[in-house]
Amino acid sequence: MRVRFGACNHPRDFWLRCRPEDGDVNSCWLWRQAVHKNGYGVVRFRGRVEFAHRVAWKLRRGDIPAGGRVRHLCGLILCCNPAHLRLDLGVTREDRREIAKLAKIKGMTQSIIAESFGISVSAVQKAVRRARRMRQEQQAT
Ligand SMILES: [Zn+2]
Repeated sequence: MRVRFGACNHPRDFWLRCRPEDGDVNSCWLWRQAVHKNGYGVVRFRGRVEFAHRVAWKLRRGDIPAGGRVRHLCGLILCCNPAHLRLDLGVTREDRREIAKLAKIKGMTQSIIAESFGISVSAVQKAVRRARRMRQEQQAT
């Protein structure tokens, strides 16, 4: 990443860089400093380079578990308003097992599974494939 970062160490410094222009706390809080080429805001916060929306999540909502992704409900990836962010934990190992089991049930479609797990159909297919591969590997050993 070759971007200029405005380092900040205090939460106050962070929030000053994305405060809403109209002063409305419900609107999008667009990040106004360094932007990565992928379009996300970046910041050096307490010595670590991170995506701005993830720092926003951590400051307001707490730690992000490994593999967790912070997604934008508003669709504006520069937005740092914690109310517009959602934590996506992805598909865990337990989820994968459950998905593989469900997929074997007659009448259970991938779109129903996708809906109930809040993931895409392609994520369901990937989970099923991965579960099958893991089973084969276990049988091989
Ligand atoms: Zn927003």
